Amino acid sequence: MERPVVVRFAPSPTGPLHIGGVRTALYNYLFARRNGGKMLLRIEDTDSQRFVPGAEDYIIESLKWLGIEIDEGVGHGGPHGPYRQSERRDIYRKYVEQLINDGKAYIAFDTPEELEAARAATPNFQYDATTRLSMRNSLTMSKEEVARRIADGEKYVVRFLIEPGRDVVVDDLVRGKVTINSSVLDDKVLYKSADDLPTYHLANIVDDHLMEVSHVIRGEEWLPSAPLHVLLYEAFGWTDTMPRFVHLPLLLKPDGKGKLSKRDGDRLGFPVFPLEWHDPKTGAVSAGYRENGYLPQAVVNFLALLGWNPGDDTEIMSMDELIEKFSFDHCSKAGAKFAYEKGKWFNHQYLQTLPDVELAELFKPVLTKHSINPADFSDEYITRAVSLVKGRINFVSDLWDNAAFFFKAPESYDPKAVKKRWSPEMPAIMTELIERLRQLNSWKSAEAEAEILQWIADKGYHLGNVMNAFRLTVVGECKGPHMFDITELMGPEETILRIQKGIDNIKADE
Ligand code: GLU
Repeated sequence: MERPVVVRFAPSPTGPLHIGGVRTALYNYLFARRNGGKMLLRIEDTDSQRFVPGAEDYIIESLKWLGIEIDEGVGHGGPHGPYRQSERRDIYRKYVEQLINDGKAYIAFDTPEELEAARAATPNFQYDATTRLSMRNSLTMSKEEVARRIADGEKYVVRFLIEPGRDVVVDDLVRGKVTINSSVLDDKVLYKSADDLPTYHLANIVDDHLMEVSHVIRGEEWLPSAPLHVLLYEAFGWTDTMPRFVHLPLLLKPDGKGKLSKRDGDRLGFPVFPLEWHDPKTGAVSAGYRENGYLPQAVVNFLALLGWNPGDDTEIMSMDELIEKFSFDHCSKAGAKFAYEKGKWFNHQYLQTLPDVELAELFKPVLTKHSINPADFSDEYITRAVSLVKGRINFVSDLWDNAAFFFKAPESYDPKAVKKRWSPEMPAIMTELIERLRQLNSWKSAEAEAEILQWIADKGYHLGNVMNAFRLTVVGECKGPHMFDITELMGPEETILRIQKGIDNIKADE
């Protein structure tokens, strides 16, 4: 029986979504779209201790920015709501009771101090088949006593009764069959009366079942929980509709040594969050891909290839192409190194595909930031300037370093270039150049170039020295796009002004 594909992204709102979480969301989305399925967004907020205000909005905004579309869930609604676990208390209570009534779970009254004492007394203490009968729970107390304690308001938890000695098989689409013996598992807490909420494990399984989830696609860090989840499906009698599991490879530090952390990003200078995050408690700001000048298409493409490949070495793929090619056949088990330099490369590639007018629009706020009023220049001028330098940029902000001279004359001149190119006879030659430029038949790049090069040849000047000195006066340093493309755009008046300014201000180094 083929089930319709339903996947869910189920983050806990404990802070900003980590870039690894973004990749999980992306793979869920690609898989759902590839298979004509649906993608749900469920917020797993049963741990009130770790709840962080703003985290849910942050998650929603991040997915939106990246173009990961949600079909059903928080912020969208749908037939299986509510989609915030903290709003589903009544639903879970019923399933906890079912397990207790069926003898698959039991009530335990052990206080934190008692559990601490048990841990101190027994090395590697685990609440399981070997210890549960020496603890204070409904297996060791009469029904009446249990009822009385509950009526007295004593706090309790409900624990899952794990039968020891069974091989539990997690059938994972990427890892194959992973077998674990149930004896190593402990009787996990499924519900806490103190906040009248289930724990992650119970809420997660009940919701996946009720929301008809067909594939659970999540990070490798959840693999250790999977055997418990398989046993829970069994305990509820839902084995037939148990979702398929996919545990995605870890994202590793750029050198491959250990798990990627926020500190790696701080140390090496790359964001580990999709959007900038303002910590509501400390006010600390963490960098985001969006604010650092990445295009969402580049981030998506970069992340898609961290743990998956299309079966060949194609690298540049739009969201639609990724969807078309995506499957878990080419998903790796081994951790993926977070090659952030490659992320810059993707951004460079995507910036080249943007129409110049769009790039010019993105550049305007950067100009403003540098006290240039974009309105002082025509859109054509800004667009052309951008098109001349875009091949050199990884980020929109890099446009400033490469194109600033189009918007203001140099105020200083690169000393190294001055030393190398500004010989004592240069002011006289530049004065001649001004005269020659005034007589040009055309300022069009190729035509102007032909005339000026001819003039240099006729005079017997050194081509490199004259052209570099010329560039120095106009740009302020000896780099930048083709010289006559620059002068064509700047026009005669500005070009000649700058050469004159250079003649007046550049002091030859004796
Ligand atoms: N709430 C878990 C998380 O924060 C979900 C794990 C899962 O997908 O089952 O990632």
